Amino acid sequence: MQLQMQTWAEVEGYLETSTMAIMPIGSTEQHGPNGLIGTDAVTAEAIALAVGAATDTMVAPTIAVGMAQHHMAFKGSMTLRPATLIQVIGDYVGSLAHHGFDRFYFINGHGGNGATIEAAFQEIYTAHSLGSHGGENAPSVRCQLRNWWQGPKMGALIKQLFGDKDGMHATISEVSVTQYLFPEHIKSAPDMGPPEPFRSRWSDAADYRAKFPDGRIASHPGLATPEAGKQVFDLAVAEIAEEVAAYAQG
Ligand SMILES: [Zn+2]
Repeated sequence: MQLQMQTWAEVEGYLETSTMAIMPIGSTEQHGPNGLIGTDAVTAEAIALAVGAATDTMVAPTIAVGMAQHHMAFKGSMTLRPATLIQVIGDYVGSLAHHGFDRFYFINGHGGNGATIEAAFQEIYTAHSLGSHGGENAPSVRCQLRNWWQGPKMGALIKQLFGDKDGMHATISEVSVTQYLFPEHIKSAPDMGPPEPFRSRWSDAADYRAKFPDGRIASHPGLATPEAGKQVFDLAVAEIAEEVAAYAQG
């Protein structure tokens, strides 16, 4: 159930039975030699739509640009400043809360968004706690963050499929999911050689590029396949759908 494909009257009807919204959030950033720049946004959106269909939950428009300053030394990458992303999340949630939604389940496709999303949740809660969000009687909202690749059985599946080569960025698993979802956009993988082991974290974009010259971190996405992507996608949807159903009750 995609918000953008409903009429206002349909949303009004939905709110009589549920006040929950799934919020896909990703990033628009380089994903190594053969990964799509939209990887984190399109995977989060596709998983969110499948979870929404499985659980009859409304899916909000995807926040497709995230906090990706460290990828800006690669062409095509885009970023919001952390402070901007906090405001965007606040206004997405605030708009829907205005209509009566009160539970927001964020399906995230980009690890680099994590700290900013959690900070955004605290800003939203603080506005309620201080009575500056619609006054003291404004109904409370609850927000949950779920990275799609971190389910209870996902680690074992990724290990079984890719051994220790999945890596931390431009992972085999996420590139495989995009190949499954968008076979018309599979890129031929250049000879990228085995992954460099992860040595140290990065600071700004120049530092990241110096440490990870082709963009990936400790991954070997040349091994990605659409078949593996289907297994990863299906497990993510199944695990998250179960959690969304529980979140709606809790
Ligand atoms: Zn990614």
